[in-house]
Amino acid sequence: YQAKRDRTGVEVYEARRDGNTPDRLGLLGDLRRALQAQDVELHYQPKVGFDGRVVGLEALVRWEHAERGRVPPDEFIAIAESSGLMPVLTEYVLETALAQVAAWRAAGLHVPVAVNVSPRDVHTPGFAGAVAARLARHKVPPGSLQLEITEHVLLEDPQRAADTLAGLSGHGVKMSLDDFGTGYSSLVHLRRLPVSELKIDRSFVARLAVDDEDAEIVRCTIDLAHSLGLRVVAEGVEDDETWERLRDLNCDAMQGWLVAAAMPAEETTAWLRAREVGATRATPALPPAP
Ligand code: C2E
Ligand code: MG
Ligand code: MG
Ligand code: MG
Repeated sequence: YQAKRDRTGVEVYEARRDGNTPDRLGLLGDLRRALQAQDVELHYQPKVGFDGRVVGLEALVRWEHAERGRVPPDEFIAIAESSGLMPVLTEYVLETALAQVAAWRAAGLHVPVAVNVSPRDVHTPGFAGAVAARLARHKVPPGSLQLEITEHVLLEDPQRAADTLAGLSGHGVKMSLDDFGTGYSSLVHLRRLPVSELKIDRSFVARLAVDDEDAEIVRCTIDLAHSLGLRVVAEGVEDDETWERLRDLNCDAMQGWLVAAAMPAEETTAWLRAREVGATRATPALPPAP
């Protein structure tokens, strides 16, 4: 959102400069209403180890617009980010995901769920405490929630971001660094952040089997992450050859259409049951009541 004051002090809306065309504003209003009406859905994509074990699920938001059909998340998330609607969206996603985790746990399915959060969220005062309160309300142990952040959180106010992440980590929430390789993170930044997982961006994974440079980048990233004690997840694995290469490079887990695309909750339940996820695992103890 950008506005300019004219000589009378009235804010003049500048459509050209920030790309807030009437079309975007229309979508923004529709999204706000869809969230209010709980007309936005979460789908879940499995994160799977190279031994076939399901290590988690990633919640991905899905919005079916009445006239336009499905709007890609990248598109409406950018709109939410630049408009102040982001906290509302994140609250909705966290609430929906935690209710789902609680339901799965009650049904004997113990699988951690990752939620994507935007840099905006990380810079919202009180965010860590709000997440902790939400976990407690749903009686979900913090270890069952993972937050996926991108290195962009460090761009605006690195100290504030580091404080929030430290707060979350102190509450026992695990953090994952998403889209790694697309930003400007250095080793130094990585070491400062309390992340336990690094996700290699799909753009590197996609050409891993055909491009030597990309293969080298992926190899170095995996080794670097391991030397820092991080688990590595490869995004967007679509074919067997890429899967095999990643396994040979000691990658820890993968996500991609090769194994499963994001699915609605019910379908995810069936998918997990078919894999007997959680069936053999003991129920983790709930934290003691305060
Ligand atoms: P991301 O977090 O990096 O999610 C991975 C994206 O790759 C997802 O796109 C997923 O559907 C897609 N994908 C997974 N496997 C494959 C594959 O094998 N091939 C290809 N070509 N794509 C694959 P999606 O769902 O369209 O989401 C796009 C981005 O939107 C996400 O990237 C994330 O940054 C953002 N996003 C999605 N849901 C949320 C949310 O609830 N909150 C926030 N803040 N951002 C979200
Ligand atoms: Mg993600
Ligand atoms: Mg990603
Ligand atoms: Mg991405």
